Amino acid sequence: MTDEKKIEDVIIIGSGPAGLAAALYAARADLNPLVFTGTDLGGQVSLTYSIENYPGFPDGLSGTELADLFKRNAERFGARIEFDSVTEVNLSKRPYTVKTYSDEHKTKTLIIAIGASPNKLGIPGEDEFRGKGVSYCATCDGWFFKDKKVAVVGGGDSALEEGIFLTRYANSVTIIHRRDELRAGAILQERAKKNEKISFLWNTIVTEIKGKDGLDRLSLENTQNGEKSEMEVDGLFIFVGHSPNSAMFKGQLEINKEGYIQVDDHYRTSLPGVFAAGEIHDSVYRQVVTSAGMGASAAIEARKFLENEEEE
Ligand code: NAP
Repeated sequence: MTDEKKIEDVIIIGSGPAGLAAALYAARADLNPLVFTGTDLGGQVSLTYSIENYPGFPDGLSGTELADLFKRNAERFGARIEFDSVTEVNLSKRPYTVKTYSDEHKTKTLIIAIGASPNKLGIPGEDEFRGKGVSYCATCDGWFFKDKKVAVVGGGDSALEEGIFLTRYANSVTIIHRRDELRAGAILQERAKKNEKISFLWNTIVTEIKGKDGLDRLSLENTQNGEKSEMEVDGLFIFVGHSPNSAMFKGQLEINKEGYIQVDDHYRTSLPGVFAAGEIHDSVYRQVVTSAGMGASAAIEARKFLENEEEE
């Protein structure tokens, strides 16, 4: 980086609903924000086949379509969206330093909207068979299981939504849940229970994933009576929640024991000019619409912070 390189007003890390809504609001405040997308434009949204609960789209739309609309909307007002990932940040002094694979930047304010990643089960075979039958994304990998038998682990909205999606390809989808009551919302529960290709295996956990070249069976255990069994499947889709991608900020920002960046009710982190929006701090709502709202709010706060600083 050369000394003459400009100091950015706002850098936004992440291109999910929070990051791209922050980009739109920062752009409309004439801050010319610089956004680093990470691997996938749209973040987790890009992995979602159909979004039916984002207001304004009564017929639903795909995650990639929504992410592209968010991007175009922000770019129209001057956001610079770069397909690059942040590798390191230095928040020890202002202006803050943000390193990416291709460059290094200085910024007066930072909006962290880096989201969360799918949790693993942490059982034998999970890493070995990832990409060989084990997946965390039905939209990405469902096609590989045409006319096959798959299982889904989890009882939340993701497990049911993705399980229903998988019935487009698979012959049968068994949803394996550790309790006998689903966490998912009523509409998804009703749709899943009505779907003839879906069956439920209650009070059951997967303890091992087995196979030769690829996954071919699961070891199971009943959580009520400890009974062990095996199940033959061609694929296993795991949807057991998410964890925030906060590793890069450890020791630099206040982070709680679950790994969420701590913010106040103005999306301010423990450092001046550093804001966080979306699933990186929100363990409660985790919806496209709430994340977008938080991103917009964080951008408004960044603008106010810069204005106050100018006045001082
Ligand atoms: P989630 O709501 O946290 O559900 C995770 C599920 O995995 C729970 O049923 C949990 O069981 C189970 N689980 C967790 N750890 C496990 C383990 N080690 N072994 C076996 N099972 C385990 O996560 P999510 O479904 O990804 O949803 C995340 C958020 O996104 C939620 O707020 C959800 O409403 C939202 N979302 C919304 C939509 C929609 O509105 N269409 C779609 C997808 C996601 P227990 O129930 O026993 O805890």
